[in-house]
Amino acid sequence: MQRIAVIGGGITGITSAYALAKRGYDVTVFEKHRYAAMETSFANGGQLSASNAEVWNHWPTVIKGVRWMLRNDAPLLVNPRPSWHKLSWFGEFIASIPRYATNTTETARLAIAAREHLFQWAKDEQIDFDLKQKGILHIYRDKAGYDHAAKVSKLLSKGGLERQPVSPDEMRAIEPTLAGNYYGGFFTESDATGDIHKFTHGLAQAAERRGVTLKYGHSVQDIGADEQHAWITATLEGEADSVPMRETFDGVVVCAGVGSRALAAKLGDRVNIYPVKGYSITVQLDDDASQQAAPTVSLLDDETKLVTSRLGDERFRIAGTAEFNGFNRDIRDNRIRPLIRWVEDCFPGVSTRRVVPWAGLRPMLPDMLPKVGPGKLPTVFYNTGHGHLGWTLSAITADMLADAVDSPKGSPLASPR
Ligand SMILES: Cc1cc2nc3c(=O)[nH]c(=O)nc-3n(C[C@H](O)[C@H](O)[C@H](O)COP(=O)(O)OP(=O)(O)OC[C@H]3O[C@@H](n4cnc5c(N)ncnc54)[C@H](O)[C@@H]3O)c2cc1C
Repeated sequence: MQRIAVIGGGITGITSAYALAKRGYDVTVFEKHRYAAMETSFANGGQLSASNAEVWNHWPTVIKGVRWMLRNDAPLLVNPRPSWHKLSWFGEFIASIPRYATNTTETARLAIAAREHLFQWAKDEQIDFDLKQKGILHIYRDKAGYDHAAKVSKLLSKGGLERQPVSPDEMRAIEPTLAGNYYGGFFTESDATGDIHKFTHGLAQAAERRGVTLKYGHSVQDIGADEQHAWITATLEGEADSVPMRETFDGVVVCAGVGSRALAAKLGDRVNIYPVKGYSITVQLDDDASQQAAPTVSLLDDETKLVTSRLGDERFRIAGTAEFNGFNRDIRDNRIRPLIRWVEDCFPGVSTRRVVPWAGLRPMLPDMLPKVGPGKLPTVFYNTGHGHLGWTLSAITADMLADAVDSPKGSPLASPR
């Protein structure tokens, strides 16, 4: 049996480990935290959303972004201090604009395939993750936003996604708790929501049952590879005098989120992931009145770039904002306030007395497509850089990664069975 190391125990690392174990590989996951899904896969927007497949590499989005930079409560914030990392990322982001339409369609296609995989895995492994298959409603306050969405719908439909234009009355019928005046919306019945942390935790347990070794609390300090092997040096996280431990494998898969770029550089690959910070709040629906006043259908407000999901009866999650500010993970009050205000405006009957704030770093590549497949060396693979859609795409990219590892011509690791 071939031994494979997976670096990272977020959604991409755990789905990769699971997909590889199902194909008979002997998998070891290295994760620096004590549990799976403690970084970006902890409290995201929860949407499994083919309808949010539009990539951001589009001139109107860039122009809107520049205007937003002048407002400090805007959904986008860019720290103006230049760094080579940021500049090179933005340069490649702009260079990807000509591929806006094809990349949007391709992302939709992947997202549709991903949903079915993920639902099946959850069923097979009996994972409860507050799955809600009630669709996603995109809401628009003005004609300009709605007209742009109509154009995006055409790109999504080329990828196989059906989403319906809906009038304000139809929006109210779909989600009666939503307050405010709207020009119209688009409803994608096939989209869903669920708790990424619960799912990843459940799938990690399932992977362990299938023989995967989970090395939690192990921080990878160094990594190397040649044509035959890959080796990893890890220390125990939080133990200052931990002796570095070196292990050799037949191959390695890098799924380290925003840490992937530095690891890839050690392996001779350029994976230009930038950490794009986002925030969420989880409103605790402690009383009956709040539970009745909160939506059960997931929403995406394109103007404020906020997404929502109802997690069980008692939690309502709202997430969004994009901040280009390096590896800074601070939870800033002036970024959290607009999320709370949005809840109070759109769902006035929901109590915001108890709100849990969170911030995470989206591992984003400039063309907004993840890197899935081999690196330069035949023993090195990647499944990383999923940006704003890592939860949505995770199950399909894990299978694509396993295909690449398994490929008879692409890899010396093929066919362990
Ligand atoms: C505010 C917000 C809202 C979002 N909403 C949605 C949504 O609604 N739908 C959607 O599809 N996506 C959403 N996303 C995106 C999604 O959450 C991410 O794409 C996904 O969680 C990334 O998973 P990952 O496994 O690549 O990274 P992570 O979850 O960060 O996992 C990487 C892991 O690698 C570990 N690691 C890194 N370096 C090392 C090392 N040297 N040694 C050991 N371990 C290491 C880290 O500890 C971490 O656990 C959102 C993101 C944010 C921030």
